[in-house]
Amino acid sequence: KVRVRFAPSPTGALHIGGVRTALFNYLFAKKHNGEFILRIEDTDQNRYVEGAEQYIIDALNWCNIPFDEGPGKEGKFGPYRQSERKHLYKEYVNVLLEKGKAYYAFDSSESLDNHRKEHEEQGKTFIYNWHNRLKLDNSLSLMPQEVTKKIENGEEYVVRFLTAPDQQIKLNDTIRGNMTIDSNVLDDKVLYKSDGMPTYHLANIVDDHLMEITHVIRGEEWLPSLALHKQLYDAFEWQAPEFAHLPLIMKPVGKGKLSKRDGEKLGFPVFPLNWNESKGYKEEGYFPETVVNFLAMLGWNPGTEQEIFSLEELTNLFSLERVNKSGARFDPDKTKWYNQQYLQQKSDIELAELYLPILQEKGIKAPLTKVEKVVSLIKERAVFVADFWELSDYMFVSPTSYDEKASKKQWKEDTSSIMTAVHDVLAAIEDFSSEQTEEIVKTWIGEKELSFGKVMPPLRLIIVGEMKGPHLFDILEFIGKEESLQRIKTAID
Ligand code: GLU
Repeated sequence: KVRVRFAPSPTGALHIGGVRTALFNYLFAKKHNGEFILRIEDTDQNRYVEGAEQYIIDALNWCNIPFDEGPGKEGKFGPYRQSERKHLYKEYVNVLLEKGKAYYAFDSSESLDNHRKEHEEQGKTFIYNWHNRLKLDNSLSLMPQEVTKKIENGEEYVVRFLTAPDQQIKLNDTIRGNMTIDSNVLDDKVLYKSDGMPTYHLANIVDDHLMEITHVIRGEEWLPSLALHKQLYDAFEWQAPEFAHLPLIMKPVGKGKLSKRDGEKLGFPVFPLNWNESKGYKEEGYFPETVVNFLAMLGWNPGTEQEIFSLEELTNLFSLERVNKSGARFDPDKTKWYNQQYLQQKSDIELAELYLPILQEKGIKAPLTKVEKVVSLIKERAVFVADFWELSDYMFVSPTSYDEKASKKQWKEDTSSIMTAVHDVLAAIEDFSSEQTEEIVKTWIGEKELSFGKVMPPLRLIIVGEMKGPHLFDILEFIGKEESLQRIKTAID
């Protein structure tokens, strides 16, 4: 049975890279009728941020990619917060120590810094492994009694992984294929500290094993850790899960990884929801479907031209084989385009319901059916529901000013008298439907041998205030005869 996990550290806001990882895990799990687990990796107390865990949960729920097991949804593999699993890491670090796969080290950070400096001065990099082990302060260079004594005296220690020299470590990644790493370039990474806390590496491997994770799908930034993780599985004699490292998400322009600062500088959100001061996709008016869709396309492709996918379609189509190796460029304009597409797909009534609170804020009371009608006329120009007001204010209130440039261009010497005549033509119409007014006004223009250009643009300016908006006769029908006539009067007076 497929079991995958999303394993964020609650160190702050969950940005789109994190949500993309969660999404790919979710899609892979659902595609294979498997389980999607949320595990909170909160062993680094210094970086813990209050509220971050709830934010992660809210973000997943908002995207409609809920987890099957995790904090608050206990399954048989819990607890799902690493801070509640400390006893397990201690137990398993002892297994490694007993097997001779790990060792105690007592070096102070000062002395490690000095070693690093010395190496640097000679143009070398300091690697804590077989090159240096015996010169350093650890249980491999000490007598067993000395080690016991140090621990009994309460000296601070760490437990390091014992990397075997001269090994060709074979790695496999579903997206990247086979890789071989020379163990001589690897550090003996710290697994555990005397304060009783594991490092990411130990906790992550122990939990993936105990939680029976079958596939580890995570960001490319974890690829350099894969050699260590593989060695840890071997050291425990556990079967390693399959690994898939997702491509980096790149800046919209230039080189490098997308960062929170790019969002701040270029004015697009990088968070799914609002976190503290920063704006999120939710607050900016993106639909969850938009976020899911554009995130799916960041690194994955269906192999066809199709761009719009529901979550269900994605679930059916998703495969790790179609995930790219190379970085995926984030394009905020494309993201907006997606929102526009999803907005058009929504029904007028659904959109009207979303528009109502905005209208209320503007002090406008309008029945839902009317709002629905407005939405149907203007939605094709909107990217966000928040654009509706800008696109349709004149449907609810008469213009308070007229666009200057347009006035200059459209308002000629004879315009006032023509508009007075239009006023009278409209005043005589009983059935004020769009079809009727259109026919009557157009026939009248023909009879009077006027040009359309002399009538329609100034009339639009009068009714709308500027040269925007849908079919003018639709607007007249909507605002009604009385209001239409009133607007013309105001303009010519
Ligand atoms: N806690 C790690 C993170 O914050 C998890 C990495 C992994 O999935 O192994 O991304």
